[in-house]
Amino acid sequence: MTSSSLPPSIRRELTGKKLVWHLSWNGLHLGLFALGWWSQWSNQRLAALNGLRYSVWTSRGAGLVLAFDGTIILLPMLRNLIKLLRPQLSWLIPLDESIWFHRQVAYQLLIYAIVHTTAHYVNFINVERTQVRKQTAWEIHYTQPGGFTGHVMLLIMLLMYTTAHKTIRQRCFEAFWYTHHLAFFFMIGFYTHATGCFVRDSVDPDYVAVFPFYSTNHCLGYESWRFAIWGGILYFSERVWREVRSRRQTAITNVKIHPSGALELRFVKPSMKYKAGQWLFLNCPEVSKWQWHPFTISSAPEDPFISVHIRQVGDFTQALGARLGATVGVSGESLMDSEKGGRRGDWIEISPAMGKPMPLLRIDGPFGAPAEDVFKSEVAVLIGAGIGVTPFASILKHIWYAQRAGKLGALRRVEFIWSCREAGSFGWFQSLLEEIEEAQTDSNFLRMSIYLTQKMDSDAVQNIVINSVGQEYDPLTLLRTRTLFGRPDFQQIFSALAASINGGSYLVGREATLKTRLGVYYCGPNPLARVIQAEAMKCKSDTIDVKFAKEHF
Ligand SMILES: Cc1cc2nc3c(=O)[nH]c(=O)nc-3n(C[C@H](O)[C@H](O)[C@H](O)COP(=O)(O)OP(=O)(O)OC[C@H]3O[C@@H](n4cnc5c(N)ncnc54)[C@H](O)[C@@H]3O)c2cc1C
Repeated sequence: MTSSSLPPSIRRELTGKKLVWHLSWNGLHLGLFALGWWSQWSNQRLAALNGLRYSVWTSRGAGLVLAFDGTIILLPMLRNLIKLLRPQLSWLIPLDESIWFHRQVAYQLLIYAIVHTTAHYVNFINVERTQVRKQTAWEIHYTQPGGFTGHVMLLIMLLMYTTAHKTIRQRCFEAFWYTHHLAFFFMIGFYTHATGCFVRDSVDPDYVAVFPFYSTNHCLGYESWRFAIWGGILYFSERVWREVRSRRQTAITNVKIHPSGALELRFVKPSMKYKAGQWLFLNCPEVSKWQWHPFTISSAPEDPFISVHIRQVGDFTQALGARLGATVGVSGESLMDSEKGGRRGDWIEISPAMGKPMPLLRIDGPFGAPAEDVFKSEVAVLIGAGIGVTPFASILKHIWYAQRAGKLGALRRVEFIWSCREAGSFGWFQSLLEEIEEAQTDSNFLRMSIYLTQKMDSDAVQNIVINSVGQEYDPLTLLRTRTLFGRPDFQQIFSALAASINGGSYLVGREATLKTRLGVYYCGPNPLARVIQAEAMKCKSDTIDVKFAKEHF
């Protein structure tokens, strides 16, 4: 099979940095496997057990790999620690890809768990057959702590891996979310697995009464829990801290419902500090005690409130809308008058005085924010695809405040590109973009380009264009900026940008020979990220330095 006949998703993994990563990552695992194998094989005290030969060497090799992966699997989920480390270490470790890394560890854990279990099954059968110990395979499997915890862990893995599959996550997120909390029991099984004391230089296990319930005088090589447990301690401490933090005083101050049914929830939480573009977990115990949903902060740190814009798409968001008296029915249709094409600045405000008192809100966060370096670039290109526009609402607002305060840092120009599938989605940030657009005094500083990618017949497009001639506002977005139809051509966008930076017309008054720092920030689906990154990187030259950052939900 030639490499060109492989599917693109596999080909991508086998080129450039990805290939180096896979070789090193798998190399590390094979190295650990070999070390575990060797330490069993070369240990004279385990000569009797080594009579089982390959199966016992394999189980020990895979066991060491599992100890390593079990230690690090929780580290990428330490969201607060990652947030703290991000500014210092993002050049060295791709901290924004923490979930991707968590998955890479999980894949290795699965592979080596299969190897470890299979080898142990052979071990146990051979113990029974050779009677190196007076035990049956069945006894070792189900009555000894090692066998018992191993099977519990396998069952939990089966549940966790299947519900973590993309299709289940998308169709029933709760199934994935709740099942993933079985990790707590998995970890207990993991830390106590060695209590079975299978690898020993004596006939009887050397149990003791205190944790880890065996003595290392005869149970040999069972030391890994000493380092493995730190991953769990760190994660557990962070979860406790998040729980405490989320219960700090929070009060809803205002609820608005925008055209298209987007619900804007404003609240104050004096203890919470955040940066533009970050997101949070929201819980409303009255709607659901256990569900925590992520939403991007749409306010800027300078605002006297914190806001999130919520699309009412499923069980939780609709129930929240209903509890707040802000169902889609209240809003959209009455605000978006299809004949007149909607009215600028319209929303319905649902104030606490209008009905029941506002419900209790719990907020866990903030998290994330690869776009926090915007002010280090001279030219910032902000690209949002669909729902991926949300972090830019806050970033654009923050830039606007900085502009007013004359604190733009190195930032000289901003290009904001939003590509959206349906016209209905424009209602999302319409009022926010309106405010920002109105506030611009320098038309060159911020340029917005809004693309509608939905397939429309040419008559409909022509109608919209004809009707908008002479109108101050675009009929679809209700902004001064005109909607562009079709997908953005990123090749053309970036080559034109590079040409005008190099030609000196883009940053007027700047020496064309100086190096311009171009920052490209993207939020949206991964396949588009690859296209944008590739096109943006083509701008890199002696005169343009390019940085690309992405976030995907
Ligand atoms: C980092 C991040 C930021 C987000 N920002 C916004 C935002 O600013 N505004 C907005 O309207 N939406 C945002 N979302 C999406 C939002 O979290 C979901 O729309 C919401 O959780 C849907 O819940 P539901 O029960 O109403 O819908 P469901 O019908 O249960 O789910 C609809 C979709 O949301 C996904 N989803 C459901 N629950 C969760 C969860 N707890 N975590 C992650 N995904 C989930 C499901 O997989 C499904 O694809 C964001 C998601 C992420 C990951």
